[in-house]
Amino acid sequence: MTQTVSRPTGAQPAPLPLDVEAIRADFPILTRTVRDGKRLVYLDSGATSQKPRQVLDAERWFYENVNAAPHRGAHQLAEEATGAYEAARATIGAFIGAPEREIVFTRNSTEAINLVAYALSNAATAKEEQFRRYAVGQGDEIVVTEMEHHANLVPWQQLCERTGATLRWLGLTDDGRLDLSDLTTVVNERTKLVAVTQQSNILGTINPLGGIVARAREVGALVLVDGAQSVPHQPVDVAALGADFLVFSGHKMLGPTGIGVLWGRYEVLDALPPFLTGGSMIEVVRMEGSTFMPPPQRFEAGVPMTAQAIGLGAAVEYLQGLGMDRVLAHEEALTGYALAALAEIPGVTVVGPPDTVARGGAISFTVEGIHPHDVGQVLDDLGIAVRVGHHCAWPVVRRYGVPATTRATFYVHTGYDDIDALADGIRAAQKFFGTV
Ligand code: PLP
Repeated sequence: MTQTVSRPTGAQPAPLPLDVEAIRADFPILTRTVRDGKRLVYLDSGATSQKPRQVLDAERWFYENVNAAPHRGAHQLAEEATGAYEAARATIGAFIGAPEREIVFTRNSTEAINLVAYALSNAATAKEEQFRRYAVGQGDEIVVTEMEHHANLVPWQQLCERTGATLRWLGLTDDGRLDLSDLTTVVNERTKLVAVTQQSNILGTINPLGGIVARAREVGALVLVDGAQSVPHQPVDVAALGADFLVFSGHKMLGPTGIGVLWGRYEVLDALPPFLTGGSMIEVVRMEGSTFMPPPQRFEAGVPMTAQAIGLGAAVEYLQGLGMDRVLAHEEALTGYALAALAEIPGVTVVGPPDTVARGGAISFTVEGIHPHDVGQVLDDLGIAVRVGHHCAWPVVRRYGVPATTRATFYVHTGYDDIDALADGIRAAQKFFGTV
């Protein structure tokens, strides 16, 4: 299939805030071709981002020069590994305005959310009084939203099953926003925790967390913010957020796979029992029982993902070098351009907010008469990588009455040319399936 490139009609778009060509040069994978020599148009950063050379180099540096298990052993390599691992924690903490002791390394956002969910159910049976403060049980309620990724839904369903608590949720409006009209009844005196995404992975919606956090505070509930799709794309400061927990994944923000972050307010973390237990999270171990380290070590059992933490530190430095304000402005410009481009194609419907107000660079759409998987297939033939399906947010596609969507997501190396390619690819799919 061949491609002709056409821009949306109307005014020339404003120059993008980031220098796309210079950034692309940092990403080795963007030099490869796919599907018989076509340029790789990578529009799937929402699933996982590509990695700049600086991140790959940081991991290689660790393995070639330092490799040892941190927080164990007294030899020089172990000492240096500990230093590098803890330096990464400090860098990542500073990125979200948090002290090091509030940064817990996990495998990804999913594990970070499970850590909190299991800590809350473990609290009910903890023998230590200090760990029972946030115990969840019968009569308690957990609140989520209909917009959540399965990672921020299923662990709470399971927590409710384990404890007898009840799951409640905030619904969605027809234009892809959270329906907050019943916020004060859904979040009430029985609510123990509110878990909400800052930016939807499927709709692109950026949620107004201020009112939700304020209501949770009024009733004494904890708040967990899923930042998997926000921390990579906009400045996030935990003090301004006002929540108790924030989770995010390294692999979605130019970092390695296998590393994620749970940020928790220290006072809350300190009152939680562990999730996983074993080496390095203990204070004293006797055959009769054990005591545990303070956070963050209490939540980092076993030899940690050391090279990955260091790689994530490098990714954070890369993003800081670009400036998160500019990353956000860049994606806003791309989103506006893409929404305009898609609006010009008859039969294309965007599932999610139709404009750039409080909206990030994840655009889900359907094409009349063509199954989303078939759209994805035609795009793939053209070298364009998008995601198709329910995007691990099945209740959302159900809410909007579609079987699935095709989703394009943007990042720092995305340019107008990528979006032109997407629009032309959709037109090619329409031609191929004879729907125009
Ligand atoms: N939350 C959101 C909003 C996501 O988009 C994702 C992944 O796509 C996750 C959570 C889960 O992230 P991970 O698979 O890295 O744990």
